Amino acid sequence: MRADILGIKVDKETMSETLLKLQEAVNNHQAIQVVTANPELIYGAGKDARLKQLINSAQIVTPDGVGVVWAAKHLGYPVVERVTGIDLVEALLPVAAEKQWRIFFLGSQPGVAERAAQKAAEKHPGFQWQAAHGYFSREEEPSLVEQIRNFKPDLLFVGLGAPRQEFWMFSHLDLNTVSIGVGGSFDALAG
Ligand code: UDP
Repeated sequence: MRADILGIKVDKETMSETLLKLQEAVNNHQAIQVVTANPELIYGAGKDARLKQLINSAQIVTPDGVGVVWAAKHLGYPVVERVTGIDLVEALLPVAAEKQWRIFFLGSQPGVAERAAQKAAEKHPGFQWQAAHGYFSREEEPSLVEQIRNFKPDLLFVGLGAPRQEFWMFSHLDLNTVSIGVGGSFDALAG
């Protein structure tokens, strides 16, 4: 059973349990949305019924932050550790390298996702990647979505900031991949 924090259902799986679930999802070519639920997102969802419903329909909702872990524990749920977007990205990269997965990095200012991907690929050679920035217009969006679809990523990291990335991933579930909301992770990875 998921932990219920202000009506948002958060998984209690640890980092390594979440990683296993994600590997399984990639291996089985499942289309899933991963929400990394930080306190701001949970608070925001309390005021936005559509966002709340969307998060509660996501296949994986991780406790992103010590505050969320604390709240869950306080409410009596056995949530033991936080599982953040950047932690997931960093843990998935070596797996992706070993399994020769394909990763699409979407988000951040122009050049940042490319730099993040390049650095990651130097550190963990073996995965294929493509990247695009997160400031595309409505007119540019269809060709971006086509690019992602044609690339057929095993993993789609979406760093458009919350809650934009959650809405975006939800409306593009037909990309049939494992999409993970990663916030500002590319900025950190690009260094
Ligand atoms: N961002 C983007 N497109 C937008 C708005 C934001 O790609 O239209 C990116 C921004 O450049 C940054 C990330 O989304 O890399 C948001 O990072 P932040 O740490 O503010 O978000 P959080 O991790 O809190 O969701």
